Amino acid sequence: MTFPDRNNPYNFDNFLEWRMHYDYYRDDEFLQKVVRHFTGDLWETVDQAARTMSAKVSFHWRDMTDAIAVPEKRPYLMHYDGHRHRIDRIVRPAETERMEKEVFSEGLFSSKTHPWVRLTKMFLIYQNGEACIACPVTCTEGLVAVVEQFADTDALKQVVAHCKDGIDGEFAIGAQYLSEIQGGSDVPANLLEAVQDKDGTWRLYGSKFFCSATHADYAIVTAKPKGSETVALFVVPSWLSDKKKEIRNGTTIDRIKWKMGTSELTTAELTFDGAVAYPVGPLDRGLANVVGIVLTFSRLTVGLSSAASMTRAVREAKAYSRFRKAFGVPVHQFPLLANQIDDIEICARRSTAGAFKLYSQVLALPGGLMGGSPKEEAVDIRKRRFAVRELIMLQKIAATWDATDVLRTAMSVFGGHGVMEDFSSLPRLFRDAAINELWEGPRNVLLTQIHRDMQKAADWYPPDTVVIDLLAGADTAAVSELSLEINELVRHPDLLTMDERTRDICRRWDSFCHRLFHAYQDMALAEVMTA
Ligand SMILES: Cc1cc2nc3c(=O)[nH]c(=O)nc-3n(C[C@H](O)[C@H](O)[C@H](O)COP(=O)(O)OP(=O)(O)OC[C@H]3O[C@@H](n4cnc5c(N)ncnc54)[C@H](O)[C@@H]3O)c2cc1C
Repeated sequence: MTFPDRNNPYNFDNFLEWRMHYDYYRDDEFLQKVVRHFTGDLWETVDQAARTMSAKVSFHWRDMTDAIAVPEKRPYLMHYDGHRHRIDRIVRPAETERMEKEVFSEGLFSSKTHPWVRLTKMFLIYQNGEACIACPVTCTEGLVAVVEQFADTDALKQVVAHCKDGIDGEFAIGAQYLSEIQGGSDVPANLLEAVQDKDGTWRLYGSKFFCSATHADYAIVTAKPKGSETVALFVVPSWLSDKKKEIRNGTTIDRIKWKMGTSELTTAELTFDGAVAYPVGPLDRGLANVVGIVLTFSRLTVGLSSAASMTRAVREAKAYSRFRKAFGVPVHQFPLLANQIDDIEICARRSTAGAFKLYSQVLALPGGLMGGSPKEEAVDIRKRRFAVRELIMLQKIAATWDATDVLRTAMSVFGGHGVMEDFSSLPRLFRDAAINELWEGPRNVLLTQIHRDMQKAADWYPPDTVVIDLLAGADTAAVSELSLEINELVRHPDLLTMDERTRDICRRWDSFCHRLFHAYQDMALAEVMTA
């Protein structure tokens, strides 16, 4: 029972104090365990790098991220300067520019940075949500990976050097523009035209409808060479001359979209009118290279960032549930709420362990991610490459879906405060999570692709064997159940025919893929916990 008190002394200070001083790596024993387990011999180096990075991410960058996440700090587009020069400047808050410089100066993509150091740092960065950092980091990684594989000209070598090691201390930022107004999933239906001048220069004409990280220095762009039905891949510098002059390379930014999540980052509509473009790889391999390298990297990191945002949300919800009382008891002592916390904690942990395990499989691939499998490759490696490709899509599907559920549940632990944008970062992370589900291949598109891949590979890699290999070391009952189920599902001719049987198979395939990846994540988590 309580008596009235007109000077109600209630405050949240104890919770805020804890949150203020929490270091994302130093104070997270589980994450340390994951890093230790998967990074092997490199553990000490990664651990040290993570500690140094975490001291910035958990405090200084966290505060900057919160500072820019208010409507009045949204980036905007300035078409002209005061002297009537068309500049199409993306105007961003000073905090964003400073944080971006600091993050990119880490040299994440430098050859001196081991991939495990990069991945662990990215996991920490992603705990702060998009913040106009996550997408540019992801896109730069994909751009570097594909351009580096085909850097046979000085122009391409310069792009790679600029992104990896910086020029005069300035590290370049990458973007990727594939989606057009008529469709983002169907990249082969692109209409953007690439024309080769008499002097050999390629130029782009047409429009792209979803262009995130619009402030980037370079973009990977898909386009069809004039008269061809095949998508080719190009890298387009945003400025050809001195960037400070703000003369864009044959491109106008027509409009910035008003979107629900990732709001600190612009997503724009662009028109190319003669933009100089450098081909990346053979013109007829554009689709294979953009999907096999650029999108595959992005999907991998979208999975990682989903795990990162779940980790932060669960941590804060858990701490709040110990702080907050209702009916005289801390709310974590209500069995209903305790179950929810346990469930989301397991989900965050298995997503994290799964993302690190999958990355270890990517690193073990000879030659890394590629646009297809080289013909001369041994069957064993071909199988591993295939498994990694499918796992990356499965992770994108499962982790992004789980992230919105986990974020929503974590927000509910805060009661009404859960939806207050100035109480915690969770509403922002939730809005970002909804975007993660859509970009880099929405769920249905990936489900269709995995089904098609499994059918195509069935002759040399039967679906049940794929499942057995993916889950080597997992609980045997789960493996046999899933490996039995997959054959029937993959035998169904396609997921595109509109009849009752196909619709039933689609429902089961959707659920199957989710369960398959959860089984993989559970196996990764068990590995970590028993190590
Ligand atoms: C905030 C934001 C930023 C973005 N930034 C970029 C960017 O920087 N660069 C870029 O290139 N793109 C970007 N995108 C675009 C994004 O990649 C596309 O939205 C996405 O690929 C889907 O394309 P679409 O929107 O045209 O949907 P559609 O292709 O029209 O799909 C509509 C629906 O149909 C389903 N569908 C489509 N094909 C199939 C199929 N074969 N089988 C079953 N279902 C199917 C889809 O799953 C979806 O549910 C961004 C999107 C968002 C939301």
